[in-house]
Amino acid sequence: MLFCKESLFTPGPTPVPDRVKQAMNQPMVAHRSEVFSNSLKQVATKLMPVFGTKEPVVVIAGSGTSALESAVCNVVHEGDHVVVVVTGVFGERFASICESYGAHVHRLNIEWGTACRPEQLETFLKGLKDPVKAVFATYCETSTSVLNPVKDLGAVVKRVTDALYIVDGVSCIGGVPANMEDYQIDILVSGSQKALMLPPGLAFVAVNKRAKEAIKNGPEKRFYLDLNRYIDSYDEAVTTPFTPPVSLVFGAEEVCRMIEEEGWDNVIKRHEILRDMTRAGVKALGLPLLVENDADASPTVTAVKPDGDQAGAIKKYLQDHFSMVVASGQKQLKGKIFRIGHMGYSTPFDVINVLTALEMAVHELNGRDTFGIAVKKAEEAWKAHV
Ligand SMILES: *Cc1c(COP(=O)(O)O)cnc(C)c1O
Repeated sequence: MLFCKESLFTPGPTPVPDRVKQAMNQPMVAHRSEVFSNSLKQVATKLMPVFGTKEPVVVIAGSGTSALESAVCNVVHEGDHVVVVVTGVFGERFASICESYGAHVHRLNIEWGTACRPEQLETFLKGLKDPVKAVFATYCETSTSVLNPVKDLGAVVKRVTDALYIVDGVSCIGGVPANMEDYQIDILVSGSQKALMLPPGLAFVAVNKRAKEAIKNGPEKRFYLDLNRYIDSYDEAVTTPFTPPVSLVFGAEEVCRMIEEEGWDNVIKRHEILRDMTRAGVKALGLPLLVENDADASPTVTAVKPDGDQAGAIKKYLQDHFSMVVASGQKQLKGKIFRIGHMGYSTPFDVINVLTALEMAVHELNGRDTFGIAVKKAEEAWKAHV
């Protein structure tokens, strides 16, 4: 087999820049030291524009799901009624977590592959008899590559209810705009290994003043994920309540530097270009996109739904022949789609690579003359932006 470099196109974990790896390689320091405190302070404050928050971003050692769980266990009391907008696997995960904590969960199930429309949420909320404690939504639903209109949904939540509005941004924060005040989000969570270009292991939680109050008055049963501990430990020497993953925080500091150097607006723009290039290229190959509506498509990941059962064959071809890893479908989409991640440390030329590989895979599997056609459309889509 021809040698190819390993390349990762999964929607998490994602490639980690060399300079971030380098930063993580610094000598270990005591976590109650000024050096560490300064590093954490940089991360907590420099991530503020990325989360669109006015409060320093809380950093927890844990996977993205720990951030989701913290958003539940700090505000949802047993017996509370909550609404979860379920547009795929990760909406369902939020619902499961809420159920684990004894909430009455009202699921608004949306057809997978489409975004939740504000009218759907409005009708649903108005149909509920009990007051709702919190409404949960997923910003980018990674399992379908849908980007939900979290701002419009937030407007509905606040118009129709007194509920807290809690958003899972694990697979898009760091690649898409966020503004908690404008979107009326009370808690916004994310993780390190997606658009934030880090290895897995850090969870991020941004809270506003109202959420802070709710967290203060939250349930008694919580310990490691008790957000009060994390928020309070920012008050004096900036630190964490428990031993932090020091190296990952050093890495996160470097990521913040990279975002600053590129310019946050440019980061957002780059992800839009990556989305448009990927969609244009995939379409040119005659491969259907799971998310048909351009307005619902995430800038960070694209799900492709080939006719028949070719999703697995294409994924396998890329892996076997080009050492290129895309993700398969989850749950009801298993075997039906494959997903291309294009977030974080990803450039237009990475998209060109994966599209070239797709051209060759489709050529091989279907005998069609596909050489150059996806790349051409992708280049045109790129050009349209500059
Ligand atoms: C990846 C992901 C998670 C969970 O993250 P883990 O790090 O696997 O726990 C949650 N929500 C969304 C939208 C994700 O993409």
